[in-house]
Amino acid sequence: MKTYHTIIGGKQIISKNTFEVKNPATEELIGHAPISTKTDVAEAVAAAKKAQPDWAALDDDKRKEYIMKVAEVLTNNTEELATWITKEQGKPLGGPGSMFEMQACVGWTQVPASLDLPVEVVFEDETRRDELHRKAIGVVGAIAPWNWPLMIAIWQIIPALRVGNTVVLKPSEYTTIGTLEMVRMINEVLPAGVLNTISGPGEIGAELVGNKDVKKIMFTGSNSTGQKIIEASAGNMTRLTLELGGNDAAIVMEDVDPNAIAEGLFWGAFLNMGQTCACAKRLYVHESKYEGVINALSDLAEKMPMGNGLEDGIVLGPIQNKMQYDKVVDLVEDAKANNARIVCGGSPKEGKGFFYPITIVADVADGLRLVDEEQFGPVLPIIKYSNIEEAIKSANRLEAGLGASVWSSNLEEAKKVAARVEAGTVWINQHGAIHPMVPFGGVKGSGYGVEFGLDGLKSVTQPQVISINKA
Ligand code: NAD
Repeated sequence: MKTYHTIIGGKQIISKNTFEVKNPATEELIGHAPISTKTDVAEAVAAAKKAQPDWAALDDDKRKEYIMKVAEVLTNNTEELATWITKEQGKPLGGPGSMFEMQACVGWTQVPASLDLPVEVVFEDETRRDELHRKAIGVVGAIAPWNWPLMIAIWQIIPALRVGNTVVLKPSEYTTIGTLEMVRMINEVLPAGVLNTISGPGEIGAELVGNKDVKKIMFTGSNSTGQKIIEASAGNMTRLTLELGGNDAAIVMEDVDPNAIAEGLFWGAFLNMGQTCACAKRLYVHESKYEGVINALSDLAEKMPMGNGLEDGIVLGPIQNKMQYDKVVDLVEDAKANNARIVCGGSPKEGKGFFYPITIVADVADGLRLVDEEQFGPVLPIIKYSNIEEAIKSANRLEAGLGASVWSSNLEEAKKVAARVEAGTVWINQHGAIHPMVPFGGVKGSGYGVEFGLDGLKSVTQPQVISINKA
């Protein structure tokens, strides 16, 4: 079985230590991933630091050209990389799965290549002219999670490279091979040292954060790791963008047609088996539509084929790993012990793989662990409310503030509710509908900083003012 390699300074690095990677649908071994050493981390940062001045000095159009070549590489290798995602992460090739993830990788590469950050004249009169220039920060460390491994790595890498930074990327230890393969392919069209990888457990990520030559960390992952990164970054004053966990509320108002919104709600909650930061994770439904929404969602759940995502027709795969699977089982068992109504699903599937059925849990209230904790899996608690004020209060009572949604046929009323929900994005009649031109990021405990669009690009630069005396 093949051992995969990291890339440092354009060269493949063979690691003495490796770990086994298994397919979560079959539990079969699919390859060996490298475990980087502390020396590897130091060498990767040194290679990125060496390559950075020349990369930043390139003409802006030249860097755009490079990024467009990366988009071409991703397009030409879509099927191969999507297959890696399916084998390693579990999401199917079909449905909103790994081919969809690869299309997103291409889109999130092309869009930053099309954006510009021209010099802004922020003040001018007869005595002075003040220009705001946006410069690269230096070496950016990118630390990715396992749920959308290639797409989130692209979100971190591409804007950073576009504006003249170089990057050291550490994929999640749960989804390493696909990401290393993607970087190997991308490296064929980039100068050596511009994009480097290291691999292994959290300690290797911590080593990257602690390196004083890393000037910015782009992190997507859990709140507890985010806290550790904040602490570790303090000594070097490393800049941070933190995209952390969410517990998105979806508020369904009394004027909806349950059947008309069911499909949008279903994928809003169960995209990638609920293993998506901005999935709807608690549903608040007006009492007049409570049973209607529950029935429409459970009808859909029964129809969606779940299985090994390499097979045709499958739209839902396994949970990615045993740790997450056990968490889902535990939260559902706790809900059962607290007299929740299991509308569908609710018991693990027999056989190989971390399969757990889509599970809809009704007759629950705030305070239940399944409502208050991020489940990050295929289980949705549905809570009844009678007055919209109660629903808004419930939506805002937790520390999470990534996304939220409001569902209504009255746009004006929905906008009034949306404005009062504490979240980085509040969608109306859709959930999780991110776009490469639209800034995305959390408030409260869900992190700080934004990605995507011009604001995302600015976040991987540092401003420099050039102030000219005209007198
Ligand atoms: P995680 O925090 O366990 O791991 C994320 C990455 O951090 C991995 O590469 C891991 O090896 C690394 N890491 C672990 N300890 C570290 C340390 N001390 N220093 C540096 N790096 C370290 O998160 P996960 O389980 O992979 O991801 C799931 C979580 O990510 C969920 O909470 C989800 O909501 C969140 N998420 C957020 C977004 C967003 O955009 N806000 C997107 C996707 C996932």
